[in-house]
Amino acid sequence: MAAVPRSAKEIREAFLGFFEAKGHRRLPSASLVPEGDATLLFVNAGMVPFKRLFLGEESRDYSRATTSQKCMRVSGKHNDLEEVGRSARHHTFFEMLGNFSFGDYFKVEAIGYAWELVTEGFGLQPDRLVVSVFREDDEAAEIWEREIGLPSDKIFRFGEDENFWAMGETGPCGPCSEIHLDRGPTGRCTSAACDPCCECGRWLEFWNLVFMQFSRDSSGAMTPLPKPSVDTGAGLERVVSILQGAASNYDTDLFTAVLARAQDLSGVSLGEDPEKDVSLRVVADHARAVAFLIGDGVLPANEGRGYVLRRILRRAARHGVLLGVDRPFLHSVADAVIDEMGGAFPELAERRAYVTDRIRREEERFLETLSKGLALLESEIREAKARGCKALPGTVVFKLFDTYGFPVDLTQDILKSHGLGADDAGFSAAMAEQRARSREAWKGTGDASVAEVHGRIAAEVTTRFCGYETLEARSEIRALLVDGRSVESAEEGSEVEVVVAETPFYAESGGQVGDRGTIRTPGGRVAVEDTQKPVGDLIVHWGRVVSGSVRVGEKAVLSVDADARSATVRNHSGTHLLHAALRQVIGAQAMQKGSLVAPGHLRFDFTHDTPLSEEEIERIETLVNRWIESNAPARVRELSYQEAIGTGAIAIFEEKYGDRVRVVSFGDFSTELCGGTHARATGDIGLLKIVSETAVAAGVRRIEALTGMGALGHLREQERTLRRIGELLKVPAAEAVRRVERLLEERRAADREIAALRKGERVATAMDLISRARDVNGTKVLATRAEGVEGKDLRAMVDDLRDKLKSGVVLLASESGGKVSLALGVTPDLKHRLSAGDLVREVAAVVGGKGGGRADFAQAGGNDPGRIDEAFEKLFSLVQAGAA
Ligand code: ATP
Ligand code: MG
Repeated sequence: MAAVPRSAKEIREAFLGFFEAKGHRRLPSASLVPEGDATLLFVNAGMVPFKRLFLGEESRDYSRATTSQKCMRVSGKHNDLEEVGRSARHHTFFEMLGNFSFGDYFKVEAIGYAWELVTEGFGLQPDRLVVSVFREDDEAAEIWEREIGLPSDKIFRFGEDENFWAMGETGPCGPCSEIHLDRGPTGRCTSAACDPCCECGRWLEFWNLVFMQFSRDSSGAMTPLPKPSVDTGAGLERVVSILQGAASNYDTDLFTAVLARAQDLSGVSLGEDPEKDVSLRVVADHARAVAFLIGDGVLPANEGRGYVLRRILRRAARHGVLLGVDRPFLHSVADAVIDEMGGAFPELAERRAYVTDRIRREEERFLETLSKGLALLESEIREAKARGCKALPGTVVFKLFDTYGFPVDLTQDILKSHGLGADDAGFSAAMAEQRARSREAWKGTGDASVAEVHGRIAAEVTTRFCGYETLEARSEIRALLVDGRSVESAEEGSEVEVVVAETPFYAESGGQVGDRGTIRTPGGRVAVEDTQKPVGDLIVHWGRVVSGSVRVGEKAVLSVDADARSATVRNHSGTHLLHAALRQVIGAQAMQKGSLVAPGHLRFDFTHDTPLSEEEIERIETLVNRWIESNAPARVRELSYQEAIGTGAIAIFEEKYGDRVRVVSFGDFSTELCGGTHARATGDIGLLKIVSETAVAAGVRRIEALTGMGALGHLREQERTLRRIGELLKVPAAEAVRRVERLLEERRAADREIAALRKGERVATAMDLISRARDVNGTKVLATRAEGVEGKDLRAMVDDLRDKLKSGVVLLASESGGKVSLALGVTPDLKHRLSAGDLVREVAAVVGGKGGGRADFAQAGGNDPGRIDEAFEKLFSLVQAGAA
C-alpha cells in the first residue's frame, strides 16, 4: 500500500488514480459553464457533464469514469453563498471528486470502492466513520453491515430530504448513501438525538454515493431502470481538511498561499478579530470563484452568469474595504489562486494574464463608484430612519445598482446591518422598465451569456492569423461585442470586442500574452489592449473605441504595437533558451509547469524540490548568454506530433496539441513545440538576466528574468542603488559590504543589551501582576488591564502570564479608540472545567461584544470600555460558579 496522501495535490491524485486502477476513464474537469444545458447556470456537481450518458441519450467507449470537477453552488437549488466565510465547509467554488458507473456496476461495488479508498487509501480509522442510507433502502444498509462489516449503530436511516436524489421533477432518481466523519462529542450539543443530521459540529459529511435506480414519470410513479447507474461526489476541500486534521477547509494547504496573499495585501492577520476572519475567508473563497469563472470564459455583466460573477467579485471587493483595503487587490489574490491551482487546471494557468487583468478592471470600475454609492446609501439610510421607514425605496436600490454598480444583495447586506430592508417590488419594476428600454438597443441577442455569444460567433467566423509573417494587415470587421452582446456598431468611449477575418494580432496562449495595437476603420479607431481566444480558434481583440465609431462590415487596418511585440518576442525566445539551459544544468526532470511571456518580463515555472544555488543560476545565465552571442538563427517547421517528438522536441506535459504541430528550434540546443512568436536569431535577445528565483508551490520553482533593454535597465538600477548605499555609508561602493557587516555587528550587540534590559522589566511587571491574582475558591484568577498592548502581543502576554501562574485563569483587557480587546487563557489542568471559549463569550457580552476560541485560549472584542471592571467581576463570578 502506498503512503497515505497528505497534500491536496496528492489527495486529488490518489482519488483519481485509485479509480483509474479500477477501470475508470480519467477525464479532465468540464467547464463551469454547462455545455448545451440552458436549465443550469453553472455545473454544480460532478455528474452534470454526464447527464446525457445517464439519460441514455448518448453512449461513449467507456462505462466507468472518474473526475475532479469544478463546481459552483451560488444559484438555484444549491446555493451556499450566504454560508461562505462563516461555514467551515461550504464554498462558492469547490472541486467535486467523483466516480461514475454508466449502467456498469452498482451498489455493492460503489460502496466497496468507497470504503476501500477511505480506510486503506486515505488511512482513516473505521471507527471514526458513520454512514447514512435512505430509510427504505434495505439493500444498501445490508451491504454496509454484511459486506463491509459496519456495526448497525453506525448506519443511520434518513428520509427523502436527506438521502434521496433526483435529476429533476421527472427522470432518473434513487436513494443515496453518505459517508460522514465522526469527530466525537463536541460538548456543545444539547440534543439527545444527536445524529449526522445535527449541526453541532460533531459530524462532517464528505462523500455522497448516489444510486440511480428508478425513473420517475410526471405522475410521480417510479419504475426500475433497466441498467442502474452510480454517481458519487466527494468535496476535495473537505477530504483534504479531514486528512490534514484541519478544523476548517480554510486551514488546509489549498488555502494557505491564497489566505497569506489576502493577509499581506490587507495587513490584517487571521485570528485578530472574528469578523475580519470572515472577510479574509470570503475574499479567499471568492478569489477562487472569480478566477475559475473568468478562466472558463464568463465575464462580468448585468445578467445571467456574468451577473453572478459580478456579484461575487463585488462582494469580495466590499469585504476588502471592510479589511481596510482601498485599492484593487483581488486580482493579486487570484494570482495566488492560479499559482496554487494552475497545475491541476492548466486552462487557468494558460490564461493567467487575462484572468487577473479582467478582475483588476472590474475592481477598478467598482471602486470608482463605490465611495459615491456608499455616500448616497448612507444619506438615504439616514433619511429613511428619520422618517421612521423600515425599507429603502426600490428606485434608490435600482439607482445604486444601475449607476453605482451595487448588486442588490450587497445593498441588502448593508441595509441589514442598519436593521432596514429594501422595497423589492419597486426595484423589480424599475428593472423591468430598464430592460424594456435596453431591448430596443440590443437586437437579437436575447439573454445569452458572453460565452454563448462567443460560441455563436466562433461557429460563423474563422479568423486567419497572419501575425507570424507581418505586424500589419487589412481585413474586415466581422463582429463587435459591447458589454458581452453582439452589436452592429460601437461609439467613441465604449469598451469593445472586435472580431475580424484576418489578423496579425497574437492571441494569448502558451504563456505569451496577447498583442496590443490599433484597429483603424474609415470612421473610427480602436485602441486594442489585449487579444484573446475565448473559445476554440476565435480571436477577439479587446479594447476601447478612442475616436469616431466602428461598424460591422467595415474595412479595417490592423497594426500590432511593434515595440511591445518585439519585446515580447525577445522574452519568448529567451524563455526557450532558459528552459534548455535549465535542463542542462539541473536535468531533464525540470519540467515546465507554466510560463508567462509579456513585453516587460518573462516568468518560467518548473518542477524542482530545492532552491537553485547561486552557482546554478550563474551557470544557467552564462549558458543562455553564450547562445545569445552565437546568434543562432531560429528555425520553424510544421511537423506531425510524432515526427516532432522524434526530433527530440520538448512538449509540455498537460498541454493539448493538435495533429500538426509547430516546432521552433535555435541551433542544436533548443527545440520546442510552440505556437508563439519568436526572434529571427538568438542575438536579437541582446542579454538575458535572471532577477529572481522563488518557490510558488510545493515542488515548483519560478524564475523571473529580463531581456534586452529591460535587462540593461535592471542592471543600471542595481548599480544606482549600490552607489547610493556607498554614499550613505560614506565609503566607495566596493567597500560597502564590509561597512554594513560592521554596522550589523554593532547593532546586534545593542539589541542584545536592550533585550536583557526589557526582559528584566517584563519579569518584574509579570511578577507584579501575578501577585495581584485573586483566589476564587482555590482557583487563581488574574483579571487586569494591559493598556497599549494589542493583537498578537496581547495573546503572547496572556500565554506568558498563564505559564507563570502555573494553574489559573488570566484575562487581559486593552482599550483603544472606544473598542475593547479581550484575551483569556486557562491553564491546561483547568480547561476541562473552565473553557476559555465559554468564559470569554460571557465576559465579552458585558462590554457589548462577542468572541470565542479554544478551551485553553480565546479572544473577543467589545465596544463599551466603561464596563471593563464589570467584565472582570463577571469572570470572578463565573469561576466561582464553575468551582461550586
Ligand atoms: P451539505 O449538506 O454539507 O451542504 P450537500 O448534501 O449539499 O452537502 P452533495 O450535494 O451531496 O452535498 O454534494 C456532494 C459532496 O460535495 C458533499 O459531500 C461535500 O463533500 C461537497 N460539497 C457540497 N456542497 C459544497 C460546498 N458548498 N462547498 C464545498 N464542498 C461541498
Ligand atoms: Mg448543500
